[in-house]
Amino acid sequence: MKRVGVIGGGQLAWMMADAAKALGVELVVQTPNSNDPAVAIASETIFASVDDANATTALASRCDVITFENEFVNLEALSPLEQQGICFRPGLQVLSRLLDKYHQRCYLKQLRLPVPRFVALEELRSEELEQYPSPLTLLGFPVVLKARRHGYDGQGTFIIKDLEALQHKLASTTTKQPESQPLFLLEEFVPFEKELAVIAARSVTGEIITYPIVETQQEQQVCRRVFVPADISSEVTAEIEAIAHTLLNSLQAVGIFGIELFVTLEGKVLVNEIAPRTHNSGHFSLDACETSQFEQHLRAVCNLPLGSPALRCDGAVMVNLLGYEYSQDDYLPQRQQIQQIPQAHVHWYGKSESRPGRKLGHVTVLLDAQTASEISASAAKRNSTLEMSLSYAQKIESIWSKQKS
Ligand code: ADP
Repeated sequence: MKRVGVIGGGQLAWMMADAAKALGVELVVQTPNSNDPAVAIASETIFASVDDANATTALASRCDVITFENEFVNLEALSPLEQQGICFRPGLQVLSRLLDKYHQRCYLKQLRLPVPRFVALEELRSEELEQYPSPLTLLGFPVVLKARRHGYDGQGTFIIKDLEALQHKLASTTTKQPESQPLFLLEEFVPFEKELAVIAARSVTGEIITYPIVETQQEQQVCRRVFVPADISSEVTAEIEAIAHTLLNSLQAVGIFGIELFVTLEGKVLVNEIAPRTHNSGHFSLDACETSQFEQHLRAVCNLPLGSPALRCDGAVMVNLLGYEYSQDDYLPQRQQIQQIPQAHVHWYGKSESRPGRKLGHVTVLLDAQTASEISASAAKRNSTLEMSLSYAQKIESIWSKQKS
């Protein structure tokens, strides 16, 4: 029996529960909030802030290995623990390359992986922002401004249309204390044809597996739906798999990583972002793959052999159930209606409060010959997995967002 410490108690920790049980692993969670989803499935919880290193020392005394379910990691505070021999997977050196979006971009560039053009805002002198043209001309407008740390679900990512809007945005984020000034990255706006993602895992022994590449669709910078597999050429597939291998091998990383990518209008692949953890774009794997990303992560961090990431069906569509109001409703009637869809698997995170944009749950519909015959004749006739995915996504979204009368 292994005991795995998980820093963070959100849905990503919660979704490890079934895999932990199957593998005979106990999860010990560090989170400040007794309402967090993972508290219900943890063998034990240490109620403390995720960046409380004293609490992590206590966590380490109860666990064989510690992993992370979010990026709110205090590397400075944790590094003495790693030096004392506490085992973090992925290791802190790996996280130090990735947690700051600017450092991450520099690292990817150093590996010669393709990324959008970027600059650290601090590198632009303030007068350069005043005088256009400046290094900003390299990026042009619109431009994308990103908080270097602690951004998630598009919070901290802003698409800025012109210089005036940029100055306005920066003025509104300036604080009185210079030491707590947020750091920003500026990057070119990529008018992408589509967004893709791949989940990759690397084991302690250096084995790497990649899941089927997916297409993700974002609205207001938040992921709404994921189509599996992505409709891409074998060249693009090979290129993305090579990116995953280069990255994980260079990092000597252990665990699951989510890699987000753009495909430009010219068909060029660019890496947008690496998440050093299980990822929303891999939730389909819970129902659609032989080994879910959550089991794979536990396998990797527990030094077990990796499992097969192969699909158990022709394809799948995953739709996020995002909050659209402030409420304590559990939306049971909508969930029950979605559950009626053939081959639909509803995952409800049990959060006590809904607010606009909050991830409350997700649904995965498995696609095969049976589902093909259930949906609109035109989509089925074309027998296109993507058509079927779109049709199911629409159906789920229309049930989900139906306002109560
Ligand atoms: P987060 O870390 O919060 O997920 P991302 O950097 O991944 O933020 O951005 C969220 C979304 O914003 C992306 O999925 C994409 O739709 C859009 N976006 C981010 N960067 C760019 C860019 N350079 N060009 C165009 N769209 C972008």
